[in-house]
Amino acid sequence: MSETDLPAPDSDELRQLLTREDLRSLYLFLYDRRRNPPTMVEIRAHAAAANGESHSQTDRRVRELRDWFRLPVVRTGRVHVYRLEGRADEQQGERSGVSPKVRGEVLSAKRCAQCGKTPAEDHVKLEVDHKIPHSWGGTDDMENLQPLCTQCNHDKQAFYSSMDPFEEQIRTATAHLEPHRRIGELLKAFHIAGVDTPSRVVGVVASMHQYQEDWQKRMRELRKLGWDYDTIKRKENGRIRSYYRLTAFTDWPDGNIAAEIKRREKAKKRAKS
Ligand SMILES: [Zn+2]
Repeated sequence: MSETDLPAPDSDELRQLLTREDLRSLYLFLYDRRRNPPTMVEIRAHAAAANGESHSQTDRRVRELRDWFRLPVVRTGRVHVYRLEGRADEQQGERSGVSPKVRGEVLSAKRCAQCGKTPAEDHVKLEVDHKIPHSWGGTDDMENLQPLCTQCNHDKQAFYSSMDPFEEQIRTATAHLEPHRRIGELLKAFHIAGVDTPSRVVGVVASMHQYQEDWQKRMRELRKLGWDYDTIKRKENGRIRSYYRLTAFTDWPDGNIAAEIKRREKAKKRAKS
């Protein structure tokens, strides 16, 4: 697990491990910078200069490299950096925790959970996906797994890797046991970072610990506590995506949040009648 097991830049071992030039180029950059790890901005600048890559290509490349190497996002001061630490531990790999039996059960749905395509009719390949990724605190339990076709899984991975800089904030938010607090703390973390919160992340974080059928309602209920937010719609790759921008927030009530929301609803009704 130490960095001594990182293959040397000019070794045959590396050439055998990473057969693609673009992956080796990224590895060499991260290897050189392992004592002074680069930010994503620096990685992108390097890849653009060395290989003429676009941002999204580089993001994908970073994700791919994690099949072989441990490359966590680490916060140093105010920035997030990508530190090459060693070989990927097979035991901790994204897939290894899922037993063949569970994998078989998940895939027995025979339909992509997102687009609905099937191997039989649409000739897609299904893969086991973690609804909430490991890095955000998700488990290998059956209810956290779903079948996705290769394309949907790929799109999801690309989106999730774009969230890497917020991994720490997302994990902190998911740790709270009350859904309102998870959603609120997530919105707050993104607000502090000066970034709009993607609704897809809110949905995932809201459903941590207990599945939320109507997390949008939980979100609206935050307004009863004095919170507020704007909804922003953006067109991305032909799809409309929602984002939330926090405009007001307050301290959490001392007791149970859901109970406090109910209490305020009742008080409001009483005031009206
Ligand atoms: Zn699909």
